[in-house]
Formats: sequence, C-alpha cells, structure tokens
Amino acid sequence: MDRIGITTTVPLEVLLAGGYQPVDLNNIFINSPDPERLVRIAEREGFPLNTCTWIKGIYGVLREMGPKKVLCVTTGDCSNTIMLMEVLKLRQFDVTAFAYPGEPDKVEMERRLEKMACEFGTDLQAAGEVRERLAPVRKLALEVDRLTWQDNVVSGRENHFWLVSTSDFNQDLEKYQSEITEFISLCHSREPYPQDMLRLGFIGVPPLFPQEFYSYLESLGGRVVFNEIQRQFAMPEPGSSLAEQYTNYTYPYSIYDRLSDIKGEIKRRRLDGIIHYVQAFCHRGIGDIIFRSSLDLPLLTIEGGSDFYLSEHLKTRLEAFLDMVRWSKRALLFK
Ligand code: SF4
Repeated sequence: MDRIGITTTVPLEVLLAGGYQPVDLNNIFINSPDPERLVRIAEREGFPLNTCTWIKGIYGVLREMGPKKVLCVTTGDCSNTIMLMEVLKLRQFDVTAFAYPGEPDKVEMERRLEKMACEFGTDLQAAGEVRERLAPVRKLALEVDRLTWQDNVVSGRENHFWLVSTSDFNQDLEKYQSEITEFISLCHSREPYPQDMLRLGFIGVPPLFPQEFYSYLESLGGRVVFNEIQRQFAMPEPGSSLAEQYTNYTYPYSIYDRLSDIKGEIKRRRLDGIIHYVQAFCHRGIGDIIFRSSLDLPLLTIEGGSDFYLSEHLKTRLEAFLDMVRWSKRALLFK
C-alpha cells in the first residue's frame, strides 16, 4: 500500500479502500525521540516562531521522512493547514485537500466523501466495507474507554494512547487489533484505582507532553477518565453509514456540538473537574471563553508552547487545581 500522510483524523476508510495506508503525522511527530529537531527543521525553512508547534512538527516529519503524498484537512481542523498545504506544494509534495462540511450535515458529508473516494480511485461502497472491517476494532478502543471510566482499571495515559491511535491504527490494523485485545484481557485482572481519586476530564487538542502529564496527575491523586478529542477519534457514535459516522464526529464542527458531547460525558463519568488544554498560537484557544461560561465545574486552562515536558510552573498549577477541586468536592458534601 502507498503511504499517505494525514494532518488530523480523516475518513480513513476511504483511503484504505483506495489502497493507501494513512500515516498520522501528529503521532509520528510526538512519538519521535527528538521532536524539537523536527520543529527546528520547520523554523530553519522559514516557519515563524509564533506558529503552532504541531504544525511545525508535522512539516518537520514530512521534510525528514515523508511520505511524499499528503492529505490536508482544510475545513474542520486547523486554519494553519491551508498555508502548510501551499508550502508543501512548493516543496513538491503531492497534496490533496479534504474539507469537512461547515456544519454536521449528512447529505453534504456524503457528497464530500464521494468526491474524496473519486480522488483516491475508489467508491463509497468499498469504503463502507472497510468501515465494517474497522467496526470491531473501534469497539475495542471504546471498550478501553469504558474500562477507564466505569471499571477504573485503565490509566488516563493508556486511554489517551489507544484512542488517539485510532486516527491511523498505528499504521497496522491487525497489529493494533491484536495488541489492544491483549491489553484488554490484561486489564481484567487489574485492581481498580482507589475510589477516592479525583475524576478529571481532559478537553482540547492532545497535549505535547502525554508521557508525563497523566502520570503526574495520578501522583497527585487525580485520574483523567475522559479524553474528549481522543475519544472522538475512535468514533463513539458510528451511526449507520460512513456519512453519518463523520457527521456525528464532533471535532470538525461548531464548539457547541463539542460542548453538548462534553456535558453528557461530565454527567455520565461523574467528573470532578476539567482541564482544558490549548496550544499556543492556536485559534481553538479562543473557545476557552465558551467552555468557561458553559461548564459548571472547576476548570483549569493550560497552554502548551514548545516544551515536550511538564515545566515546574505547570506542575504547580496542576497541583493547586487538584487541591481546589478536592476542596470544592468536600464543600459540596457538607452543603
Ligand atoms: S493545535 Fe491548533 S493551530 Fe495547532 S495544529 Fe492543532 S488546530 Fe492547528
């Protein structure tokens, strides 16, 4: 299969049906042993210092290791991708654009999927068959999610890893399926986390420091039992067709669609607090205003810059936030 770089979660069923192996450039970047170097490649080639680190990292990955074919999402993800796409064309990459509809509309989604299928030499029937092949694997990812918040035997970091990887199934569907099956059976013999740990939600784009972030919170007595966007990547509302699946996927659309999903999960998962991650120089950070005025529980906003580790400053803020959540929970008990 020809490899194709993707800049975010896309209808990968269409790519697989067309004989392409999607490669999520974000995952390659963040799992690189030296992500700073990939960012420097972009900066050396002229990316402004005040461009989001994810964009520079994606570019660095492509310049260093390809693939030469890239699918860029121009609507429903990142405003910077449009210009990234233009620079990639300049560097002789073979770039195709995909635009999610401006709002969740099944008919329009179907039209865009048809166009995409045509561009990749396939059709929606073949993509639908791939969708059926992926369905049991997506269910396994969602079972990991359930084991996180309901059975309390999966860590926030493990949850992040298995869900975020569904954007390209780590480029090897069979391997992903067998590894996640093994992981789930391992979880069944685990002791649950203590019940008195705080239950946290993580909303916003995935963090630049997933390794340290979740385990640091656990060391402070708080567990992330809801990774909003990562869960969306796994398609928790698959509907009855490919068009419906990507219409129910909340990330590309209005923040109010995300908000209603988040509110439902806050209740279902009995969350005590929310951490909203925003990336420096990202337009999505403005949405913090809406989350702050719409969510009725303690919320901490943290901003990632170009550090791939938790700074002492950030650690102190997380510690203070967890103390505050603990106190507000106790105060509610005595009301
Ligand atoms: S964090 Fe924001 S600016 Fe950066 S790639 Fe994602 S959407 Fe774009």
